[in-house]
Amino acid sequence: MSPEFIKEALRNVRYPGFSRDIVSFGLVKDIRHENGVLTVKIEIQTKDPKIPEQIFKDCHAILDPLPDIGTVKVDIEIKDAPAAASGQDLQGKASIPGVKRIIAVASGKGGVGKSTVSANLAVALAKTGAKVGLCDCDLYGPSVAQMFGTTERPMANEHDEIIPIEAHGLKLMSMGFLLEDRSPVIVRGPMATRYTQQFLRQVAWGELDYLILDLPPGTGDIQLTIVQTVAVDGSVIVTTPQEMALIDARKAVSMFAKVNVPILGLIENMAWFECDHGQRYYLFGEGGGVREAAALNVPLLAQIPIDPQTRERGDAGTPVALIPAAEHPVAAAFEKVAAALAGRIPA
Ligand code: ADP
Repeated sequence: MSPEFIKEALRNVRYPGFSRDIVSFGLVKDIRHENGVLTVKIEIQTKDPKIPEQIFKDCHAILDPLPDIGTVKVDIEIKDAPAAASGQDLQGKASIPGVKRIIAVASGKGGVGKSTVSANLAVALAKTGAKVGLCDCDLYGPSVAQMFGTTERPMANEHDEIIPIEAHGLKLMSMGFLLEDRSPVIVRGPMATRYTQQFLRQVAWGELDYLILDLPPGTGDIQLTIVQTVAVDGSVIVTTPQEMALIDARKAVSMFAKVNVPILGLIENMAWFECDHGQRYYLFGEGGGVREAAALNVPLLAQIPIDPQTRERGDAGTPVALIPAAEHPVAAAFEKVAAALAGRIPA
């Protein structure tokens, strides 16, 4: 029986707690079938004894019934390296060298203001004195370039890493920086995932207290791969108060729960519009985010109103959070969110 055949069979063995398999995680190091003995060598890095036990059982369940297989030996080597030195956390997710904290900003639905929130949150965290990076992982609609008013193209350093663009004191990376004019990127699923991984790992981020990942909208394969393979410390979910957006926000919450990424909280964006006379209009319904946060038992980090200046400043490349908090309620709201996040996951 060929090692390739065995390897294919082992793709049915999932890493416990993940929907990805042990082959795609690169844990299968050797496969030999000689003199009626099949030996599979697996290397994992964990402190949890249940993980190798489960993998051992699952491998046998898949391999033992194969015809003409003979004796099956599953050798699991456990590497107990400390998380920081190995670059992997206990679940096998890779950290990014030099980056202390990774926060993913997600939404179940497009157009709810996820990129606006990511950009302003990054600015607000930087205002606290933290070193902050922002990576636009949305290959299909990159907007960080626009929101930070930069058309600069990134260069590579001598290690072939992409040097992030710096604007308003932040380090930025976006597919938008690599695209010719405004041509749409046509990248299919697996390629998109590979690009995203490359983005995250081949960028010379340097030392960062926080890296904000502006995830693509939705809860499909690309989002899942990112949160499964990168050691994300926590996630922020953006929604409007509208029921349709809330349904999708719920899906995002369950996606993070599945991969054990803590939900830091929910941000209700476009919560209302306040006219010059102080009257509030709840264009997408009132309090949907508040109720949802309570129902999901996650903190409500902020309610951000529909605010023309937030949109204008986003388009102009000068995010609203750059304004001192005392001068703009939305800037103040983002400062509060930054303080809450820094409190929950200090760098
Ligand atoms: P997403 O990343 O979820 O697709 P964007 O952040 O690109 O959403 O926002 C969609 C549009 O809505 C943009 O034009 C943005 O400027 C605008 N927008 C987002 N949040 C607000 C807000 N609170 N007030 C006014 N406009 C907003």
